[in-house]
Amino acid sequence: MKKYNFGAGPSILPQEVMKATAEACIEFQDMGLSLMEISHRTPEFQAVMDEAQALFKELLNIPEGYSVLFVGGGASLEFCMVPFNMLEKKAAYLNTGVWAKKAMKEAKLFGEVIEVASSADANYTFIPKNYDIPADADYFHITTNNTIYGTELHEDLDSPVPLVADMSSDIFSRPIDVSKYGMIYGGAQKNLSMAGVTFVIVKDELLGKVSRSIPTMLDYRTHVDKGSMFNTPPVVPIFCAVQTLKWIKSQGGVKEMERRAQERAELLYGEIDRNKMFQGTVTAKEDRSLMNICFVMADEYKELEKDFLKFATEKGMSGIKGHRSVGGFRASCYNAMPIEGVKALVACMQEYEKMHA
Ligand SMILES: *Cc1c(COP(=O)(O)O)cnc(C)c1O
Repeated sequence: MKKYNFGAGPSILPQEVMKATAEACIEFQDMGLSLMEISHRTPEFQAVMDEAQALFKELLNIPEGYSVLFVGGGASLEFCMVPFNMLEKKAAYLNTGVWAKKAMKEAKLFGEVIEVASSADANYTFIPKNYDIPADADYFHITTNNTIYGTELHEDLDSPVPLVADMSSDIFSRPIDVSKYGMIYGGAQKNLSMAGVTFVIVKDELLGKVSRSIPTMLDYRTHVDKGSMFNTPPVVPIFCAVQTLKWIKSQGGVKEMERRAQERAELLYGEIDRNKMFQGTVTAKEDRSLMNICFVMADEYKELEKDFLKFATEKGMSGIKGHRSVGGFRASCYNAMPIEGVKALVACMQEYEKMHA
C-alpha cells in the first residue's frame, strides 16, 4: 500500500534524494569506493561540500558577508553555541514553544535572558505580537516554525538587534530575506536531509565579539575558517542535503516550494474548518503553519480520536499522531509531501465523517 509520511521529523524526503544517497553509499562517482569510506579531504568530497554551500547561497539568495556552515550536534547544540558565541550581557527571546524554551534555558547559562513575549499560557496556540525588543540586547532569538504546536511566522521580522532564527522546520519552504538575520540555523532532518548535520548561516561580522573563551569546536569561527572541515563532517547527510537542494532547484526553487506549501495547507485547513468532526488547534489563523498542520477531534467527537488515528493509519497516513503536549493529529507537510498525500488525508477525513457524523 502507498504510504504518505506525515511524520514531524525525521521526515519525508524526495524519493530521488534517498535513491541517489543510497547509491553513493554503495559506490561514489565511479571511484570504486563508498561515500562512507572515502576521506573528507578528497577532491571528490570537497566538491560536495562546495556545492552544498553554493546551493544554499543560490537558493536563499544569501548576500556577501555571510558564511554557510555544516556542523554536528543538531539544532539543540545551537541552543548553546549561539549564546556561547554571541551573548555578552543579555539576549532577548520570543517564547513560542518547547524549542524556544529549550533555547532560552541554554542562554541563561551565559547571561541575562529577556523573554519579550510568550504564548505559554495559551499552550502556544498563537505567536505573540506587539512586544518590545530591548535595543541593548546582544541579539533577538525567534523560532520561525513551531513544529510541535503548528504555528509559524510567515514574514521576516524587523529587529533593532541581530536577529537569530531557529528555522529547523521551515527552511527552504519560502523565500527569505537573509539580510534581515544575523544568524539562521537548524537541524537538517525536517526539510533538508537525514539527521546528522546542522546548517548555520551566519553574518561573519557578528562573531568574535564576546569576551569569554570558547572551546574550539563550539566556536563558529573555527568552522568559518576551516570551511566546515575542522574535523570530519557528517559526509553522508551533507551529500543527502545536496541532493535535496538540487531537487528544490530543479522544481523551481523556494518560490515554488512556497506555492506548493500554500496549496497543501489551503486544502487541509479547508477540510479541517469544513468538517464538523475536526477542529484546528491554532487560535490565530494567520499564525497557522504551512509545515505542521495540527488539529483535534471536535469536542462532541473527542472519544473517537484513537479510532480516527487507527482508521487513517490503516489507510496509509503515516505519522499523523499529534505531539503529546497538543494531542490529536499533526500532519507535517514538508517540501517533499506531494499534494496527492494531502488529498488522501482529506479523503480519509471525509469518509470518516460519512461513517460517524
Ligand atoms: C526538531 C527541532 C529542533 C531540534 O532539532 P535537533 O536537531 O533534534 O536538535 C529544534 N528546533 C525546532 C524548531 C525543531 O523543529
